[in-house]
Amino acid sequence: MARNVVERFLIGITFIIFSLFSWQELILSSNKEIVYKYNQSGIEKLKNKDFRGAINDFKMAHFYDPSNKKILNNLVIAYNNYGFYLMKKGEFTQAIEKYEQALYYDPHRPYVLYNLGQAYYMNQNISKARLVLEKAYKLAPNIKGLKRLLDKVNREVEVEKGLTRLETMHFIVVSSQSVPIEKISYIRTYLEEAYGRVGMFLDHYLTKKVVAVLYSEAEYDKLLGNKPHWTMAIFDGKVRIPVSKFKYSNEEVVRFIYHEYAHAVVRDITKGNCPLWLNEGIACKAEDFVTPHRGERFAAYFEKFGVVPLKKIPNNFTQIRDVRLATLMYGESYLLVEFILREVGQSGLREILRYLGQKVPITVAIQKVLGRDYNSFARQWEEYVRRKYSIYAR
Ligand SMILES: [Zn+2]
Repeated sequence: MARNVVERFLIGITFIIFSLFSWQELILSSNKEIVYKYNQSGIEKLKNKDFRGAINDFKMAHFYDPSNKKILNNLVIAYNNYGFYLMKKGEFTQAIEKYEQALYYDPHRPYVLYNLGQAYYMNQNISKARLVLEKAYKLAPNIKGLKRLLDKVNREVEVEKGLTRLETMHFIVVSSQSVPIEKISYIRTYLEEAYGRVGMFLDHYLTKKVVAVLYSEAEYDKLLGNKPHWTMAIFDGKVRIPVSKFKYSNEEVVRFIYHEYAHAVVRDITKGNCPLWLNEGIACKAEDFVTPHRGERFAAYFEKFGVVPLKKIPNNFTQIRDVRLATLMYGESYLLVEFILREVGQSGLREILRYLGQKVPITVAIQKVLGRDYNSFARQWEEYVRRKYSIYAR
């Protein structure tokens, strides 16, 4: 998928904060002034992302005026927004707590239920996720993305029934019982290795554990349907790995691990603000730690398609029907990263990612780090590729 699923599923907070009491309402009760004060102060704090402070204020207001629906609503919003904030930082367990508290005050909030479902999903509590998402769906079937996530969860519930769960230093490894124990420990070893090596490459170490789901080849195929494996997701918040049996070699599995884990790190640094070519380029580059890419592989595809200019590289590879063209898009992504590394080294690449994490657009990040505008960068990269593969204008 072009953008990772979590980012896409997170919904912006569209609730309206109720801030005004009419004067008549205000003088109706002697507590009104206190209630008003707490409510206003809560709203201010919420605006400044002081979630705890806001929650305390709304709780006080609620205490003095328990029947006031607007205050109750603000309290629910404060908990929800706190959960949303934690969720974006990848702190799913804490986010779940906040959403549950919001639902304690009002159990019928479809948006909060939806958010809670996502948090459960990210924490690999698939059946709990299904429960709350179904509830949300009954209340508000039209929430954007809800139906899609519910379908996805329903599909995964089947596959993920009876999974065993085990935690390593940096991962939560989930696998079906059909996966032999020696395969699990093999993959665990390489996950931790990827953590170290990709971490060193990008100078970034995830502080939150990443969920890695191990599938037997049959289960993996079932999840994919008839689609080629690159359509799975670039990284949907979980590292998904098939366990080698017939189709994949151990080496390929280790490449999957490095590739997918690199996506996890890129997402963490850039907070999802990363163009697909850079994201895939880095993930493919990470595979070099397992076995270096053999560049000749791309030559035939350049022969067939020519060099696809950077501007024409789509932001979604899953739509590409032709396997060869899709492979070329990965190849070009890889070569773009190779070019960046040649020009500005690892530290330059890391700097670009850091800029992206500060919401700087890629064109500006390139300009800042490579000292040339995006078009010149694209042109020089193309020349580099043409020289490397001896491709001449046709
Ligand atoms: Zn990828």
